[in-house]
Amino acid sequence: MPTGSHADSPLAKARRVVVKVGSALLVEAGTGRVNRAWLETLIEDLLRLRQRGQQVILVSSGAIALGRRQLSLGKGPLRLEESQAAAAVGQIRLAHAYKEMLESRQVTVAQVLLTLEDSERRRRYLNARATLETLLALGALPVINENDTVATAEIRYGDNDRLAARVAQMAGADCLVLLSDVDGLYTADPHRDPAAQFIEVVPKITPEIEAMGGRSASEVGSGGMTTKLLAARIAVAAGCHMCIAAGHPLHPVRRLEEGARCTWFLPDATPVAARKQWIAGTLRPAGALTIDHGALRALFAGRSLLPAGVTGARGQFERGDTVSVLTPEGTEVARGIIGYSDADAAKIIGRQSAEIPDILGFRGRDELIHRDDLVLLHASAT
Ligand code: GLU
Repeated sequence: MPTGSHADSPLAKARRVVVKVGSALLVEAGTGRVNRAWLETLIEDLLRLRQRGQQVILVSSGAIALGRRQLSLGKGPLRLEESQAAAAVGQIRLAHAYKEMLESRQVTVAQVLLTLEDSERRRRYLNARATLETLLALGALPVINENDTVATAEIRYGDNDRLAARVAQMAGADCLVLLSDVDGLYTADPHRDPAAQFIEVVPKITPEIEAMGGRSASEVGSGGMTTKLLAARIAVAAGCHMCIAAGHPLHPVRRLEEGARCTWFLPDATPVAARKQWIAGTLRPAGALTIDHGALRALFAGRSLLPAGVTGARGQFERGDTVSVLTPEGTEVARGIIGYSDADAAKIIGRQSAEIPDILGFRGRDELIHRDDLVLLHASAT
């Protein structure tokens, strides 16, 4: 990766950026309080990205670290209930710090607490995604953490590295920055092996790269290099660039743009292409829609599928399921994520989108399948 001018770095070029900060950065080791002087500089960096027209989501740890001090829980390992109690206390303090610092700069902050289920269960995933989209469209800065207080051991991320990668995937972000207390990936643990070499770019996560994660135990906290590599897998598969960088210095994001050392993981595709690949690869679509010739032409012209062009629907599906799209002759031409359940779809097919609120009693999307959620299986089949 070139040093010096970074106008073409994945960070500078990204439309939507997710930045994750770890507890060790946010919470001062000695006092157990928010490290405000440092946080101010991070926030200035994030607002700079926004001023350039980039959208920013912050994934922030720190709730447990802040709450344990308040509850005098000592320094040793916590039981699950204790960390949940600490998170309940610490999250308020964390949110308060963000609100104060952002509102004094005329930015509205939004707190979003997610659980593993929100990212694994499709309907909840879609809801969380829609909320993030709306917050960004309204100009708010989402600050996300795991909802540690309700997440039980089995259904818990436990680390914000993977949570941040899921958020990046959910939001279709093109860049994820993990700020941590290591500056990147090494061939071996640099504290133990003087021959350890720094890796600037990882074009592909190979078994050799995976093995490096196991050895780099320099980081404290629940993260570590192993979860960062798991996060990288999620991010690159979603078409998102990811970087691991040192977070301790002041202005940690600006430093990156100025050429500070870090490790970049390169995605194989763009976020949209990755999503479409995933849709096309659905093993068993939950249902099928038959469309007319007009709708078929519209799809090949890159447009969405509206209810008016659909002549039949079969199968059992929920909003968010993948369905097949069939030509009038019954050939599967496309697949997509449907915006309505089978029951609602049955009522609106063949009708104009403007009629949807009257028919269903609520205002859903105009499209049955939005073009971003639709993939043509044989692009030349017109
Ligand atoms: N969600 C945890 C917290 O806010 C942090 C998880 C992590 O360290 O990655 O305290």
